[in-house]
Amino acid sequence: MASQPATLLIVDDEPQIRKLLETLLQHEGYQTMSAGSGEEALDLIAQRLPDLILLDIMMPGMDGYEVASQLKGDETTASIPIIMLSALSESSARINGLQTGAEEFISKPVERIELWLRVRNLLRLKTHGDQLKDHSLMLEQQLRGQNNETAHMHVHDLTRQDLENALRQAVERQALTLHYQPKVELASGRICALEALLRWDRPGYGAVSPAVFVPILESLGLIVTVGRWVIDSVCQQIATWQRTAIGAVEVSVNVSGHQLIEGDLIADIASALATFGVAPHCLEVELTEGSLMENTQHTIASLQRLRAMGVKISIDDFGTGYSSLAYLRRFPIDTLKIDIAFIREVTSNPQDAAITRTIIELAHSLNLRVVAEGVETQAQLAFLKEAGCDQIQGYLFSRPLPVATLERLLLER
Ligand code: C2E
Ligand code: MG
Ligand code: MG
Repeated sequence: MASQPATLLIVDDEPQIRKLLETLLQHEGYQTMSAGSGEEALDLIAQRLPDLILLDIMMPGMDGYEVASQLKGDETTASIPIIMLSALSESSARINGLQTGAEEFISKPVERIELWLRVRNLLRLKTHGDQLKDHSLMLEQQLRGQNNETAHMHVHDLTRQDLENALRQAVERQALTLHYQPKVELASGRICALEALLRWDRPGYGAVSPAVFVPILESLGLIVTVGRWVIDSVCQQIATWQRTAIGAVEVSVNVSGHQLIEGDLIADIASALATFGVAPHCLEVELTEGSLMENTQHTIASLQRLRAMGVKISIDDFGTGYSSLAYLRRFPIDTLKIDIAFIREVTSNPQDAAITRTIIELAHSLNLRVVAEGVETQAQLAFLKEAGCDQIQGYLFSRPLPVATLERLLLER
């Protein structure tokens, strides 16, 4: 079994990178094939299944995310391990890559030793997974007395299915919770608002990131129900605080594009505000730039109705969604939140600094409020103050907190 060298497929639009990777990997004794685009890669894979794929994310035409989603969604190719390659250092690129089902992620420029170790380890796991798969097929066949066609259980499918089942159960048992992260007004240095963030403590596993489970809730068709619960809980919480020494607080909730398109976001919000007696200006909805770009006519109409009710609207993760400024002008918005990716290196990367300054100026010239998220250091804070940013959110001031801890902080303000 191990005598045949493994075949690795390299997919990258840059010829020098393909050449470099081929040289490195051949040197380690692997066979290589290469493709200059996502489309070409899929053609090659249809002819011959590689043992592992090194896949660039940013390519013209079909990008790496799309290629990985297609491969992982197809039973014949789902178990081929994928290592994604990217020059993007932000964690969202990694998370998006991992979400599509890719097993590993390597940053460019590629380190020879890291490449070799990751390839070796993944190939080992794959061999083990194939054996497990064969074993589970055999067992299943023995149990059912059936042949090959009925039993198709990939190890990969099992873990994904487990995750989905556990999440379904968490929703049924109302085991999801909310944490709140303070936003601080730079002019006064005081907490001016909060963002509600979903939390899931998966029994036996610990905390699972909402960046992972929210897309699964979307694909399971559960996000509308969960989203409605988030809105209700937040409104109830605002009402409770109003009656105590904490007083009125503005809270933003993250809203998925699915809630606008499949659900009735307006009705959900109107009913929560009425039920708990909350003033609309205390609530803000955060929509990502990406979700605004889908089904725009309907989205604009819904946002206009929300705005007319007095609810505030914020664009989350701004700067990464490729929306044009002409487009932006058509949305009724109050706030732009600069994506964490630009803030991370704002003090060391002149391009990120320039983008951040530009977004702040743009927001102000459109009379919008601008919030920077992911602020972790004093140096980032100083930069943002100097650049005229209105509010910040980040670990420097506070992590997202459970209600009891947050209340102590709010009472001190
Ligand atoms: P987001 O709305 O952009 O939320 C900001 C994320 O940045 C949060 O991650 C927050 O914990 C994290 N963060 C805050 N300050 C810092 C910092 O200083 N450094 C770093 N590295 N990270 C910081 P979290 O809670 O894991 O949420 C991830 C995403 O999941 C959110 O991104 C949002 O898109 C989604 N999400 C969370 N709750 C909900 C929800 O109730 N509904 C929907 N539809 N999506 C949600
Ligand atoms: Mg947000
Ligand atoms: Mg964000």
